[in-house]
Amino acid sequence: MSTFDVRTLGCQMNKHDSERIAGMLLARGMTPVPTGEVADVVVFNTCCVRENADERLYGQVSSLSGIRRERGTVIAVGGCIGQRDGETLLRTLPQIDVVFGTHNLAHLPALLDAAAGSPGPVVEVDDPSEGDFTSELPSEREHPWHAWVPIAVGCNNFCTYCIVPYVRGRERSRTLEDIVSEVRRLAADGVVEVTLLGQNVNSYGRDLYGTPRFAELLRAVAAAGVERVRFTTSHPKDLSDETIRAMAETPQVCRHLHLPVQSGSDRILKAMNRHYTQESYLALVERLYVSMPDLALTTDVIVGFPGETDADFEETMNTVKAARYDAAFTFIYSPRAGTPAASMTDQVPRELTQPRFDRLVTEIQALALAKNVPLIGTVQRVLLEGPSKRDPRVLTGRTGGNKVVHVPLPAGVAPDQLAGMLVDIRIDDAQTWFCMGTLNSEA
Ligand code: SF4
Repeated sequence: MSTFDVRTLGCQMNKHDSERIAGMLLARGMTPVPTGEVADVVVFNTCCVRENADERLYGQVSSLSGIRRERGTVIAVGGCIGQRDGETLLRTLPQIDVVFGTHNLAHLPALLDAAAGSPGPVVEVDDPSEGDFTSELPSEREHPWHAWVPIAVGCNNFCTYCIVPYVRGRERSRTLEDIVSEVRRLAADGVVEVTLLGQNVNSYGRDLYGTPRFAELLRAVAAAGVERVRFTTSHPKDLSDETIRAMAETPQVCRHLHLPVQSGSDRILKAMNRHYTQESYLALVERLYVSMPDLALTTDVIVGFPGETDADFEETMNTVKAARYDAAFTFIYSPRAGTPAASMTDQVPRELTQPRFDRLVTEIQALALAKNVPLIGTVQRVLLEGPSKRDPRVLTGRTGGNKVVHVPLPAGVAPDQLAGMLVDIRIDDAQTWFCMGTLNSEA
């Protein structure tokens, strides 16, 4: 077993876990597979929050069947789908050699060894609510200048559509000192930007300290030597004024907040178990804009939750317009087995949800453009990420508001030379999902 390929089918938490999987496999002498080749070990790190992760997993594992037979490629599946399905995954995908749960990540190398000496598949899925937070594994970062930093895992909220509390367990926070010392090490290692990760970062520390300490953590991480701090995800019910103050007063904290609204109807929010109303959510949004007029606000919206009527959907549209989002992840509701919403009887048919969804997407696009156009003529601090995927003569980066900015590659500069650098960019043009600009020194 000498080459590996880690395929991430999921969210940011999965991406971070994938970096840790890569770090562990590198530490045992394996190497990443060259592009275009099939690895000796393929690890799928999955998420079951979004339905297409299931479909992509089934498609990709099935397509490896032939090569597995010919070359003995080992297939491992972990993350939320591994945790949720455990051994039953082998009934639909008997090609899998190793199944591991969200809490068994650190054992993956040992499980691969066990699979090599075993006539059948190896499965290890522990109770996700037990044991330690595995924060000290080696990690192979995708970009040297960016690091994901988990601050808590699990969730106590039990939104009725969500599988996370069942597969990731109850919320467990890392100590503040542990997080800050990791960020100090990362800064010393050249990391410019960290993203703090948790299912609900705003309740960070409640399990350890009896009260949330996220605002304090933000200030401490910002003082630990990195130039940018991002975080995700925030639950509106737990976003405190203290945290808004910490964001507003700490220049390293990016002016971007992802604040999932899910619905604008109080009736549906109650059925979702979200613990806020349209009024309290929009009051929070106004407090945010008053404190940070340049804040970029993004959200998640679910269309067609069980029982959603046309009137409920109009409340969602009203909320979206009032919140003036910069972008949104939009979803048509689909049931997740094992969640309360999956057994609700009033599921909404596709012929009703699709037109609502289309209207919502059109509205979000209009709002996104309306938020980008005023940036024309301004100078934005942009963290350059490298050449654009479509055109190597163009560099791509992100503003503090997480907006994608494309810049022509300056003459005499290699495409990767400026990756990881914070530069000033004058914005010359704005589209719905990106801006075009010029390096300010050239402007
Ligand atoms: S806050 Fe709700 S949606 Fe988010 S992870 Fe927890 S249960 Fe799921």
